Amino acid sequence: MSSEPGPATGIHISGLSKTFRVGRRTVPALDSVDLDTDQGAFLSLLGPSGCGKSTVLRILAGLETPTAGTARIDGATPAELRRRHEFGIAFQDSALLPWRSVESNIKLPLQVAGLPVDAAAIADLIELVGLQGFEKAKPAQLSGGMRQRVSIARALVVKPTVLLLDEPFGALDDMTRQRLNLELLRIWTEKPATTLMVTHGIAEAVFLSDVVAVMSPRPGRVVQTVEIDLPRPRTPEMMRTPEFHKLHDYLSELLFGRSGHGGIEAAAEALDLAAGESLGGAQ
Ligand code: ADP
Ligand code: MG
Repeated sequence: MSSEPGPATGIHISGLSKTFRVGRRTVPALDSVDLDTDQGAFLSLLGPSGCGKSTVLRILAGLETPTAGTARIDGATPAELRRRHEFGIAFQDSALLPWRSVESNIKLPLQVAGLPVDAAAIADLIELVGLQGFEKAKPAQLSGGMRQRVSIARALVVKPTVLLLDEPFGALDDMTRQRLNLELLRIWTEKPATTLMVTHGIAEAVFLSDVVAVMSPRPGRVVQTVEIDLPRPRTPEMMRTPEFHKLHDYLSELLFGRSGHGGIEAAAEALDLAAGESLGGAQ
């Protein structure tokens, strides 16, 4: 791969490695990860817990520095994008400030960045995520799904060109999750952004993405990237088509193996048993 950044758009990750030091141990979280997408594309990272998905996202967000390799989005480094307030970020835990209202939580990134708060834009955003009437409510007065919608609205308030979502609906029940995935799709279609979503949900990865990268753990690697060539606009009916099932089965096989006894998940479990030894000591 060329070391000269060309007219790079989308997500470009090259030779990305990350080793954490925990006391005298080293944890190889990522090993030589390469990823490439187009500008405005929706990329999902799919893989079992501990395979380095959040580490990739945190490096892209500029919250973690890689041990080796480079990460660029739409031609810029994470640090540059942070300075320009190009990121919208949402995590599994909505992480709202409990003493602030819905409206006031959504405004927060603008206030932190010293950017003007446009009341009409905030109202639009609240409507976009379907929270009209709850502007003055505190997080404790909302359901889990509503809190996640606030966190999505907060991620969108800076009009990000890059959206980073770490299991944004992971803590919710399946029904709510499906509903919010539909909403996320609608929002993303209305306000396209170069997107990375971390998930362990195969169906939602297929439904939302242009590309799905399947990762395996210890050290975290990309096993395969799969193009999701389903047409857009996507509709819930597509989840019942043979094309959808074929992609779902293929990814499932990559993750779990054909018989359900192979694949990355089983390998991860086997490794878990030996994790104490493999992480301990200096060898
Ligand atoms: P995932 O999001 O796929 O569950 P993570 O990226 O959170 O995986 O973690 C990948 C590996 O790196 C795991 O083994 C995890 O324990 C380790 N790790 C992540 N963050 C840290 C950290 N700050 N310090 C030490 N180890 C970490
Ligand atoms: Mg994670």
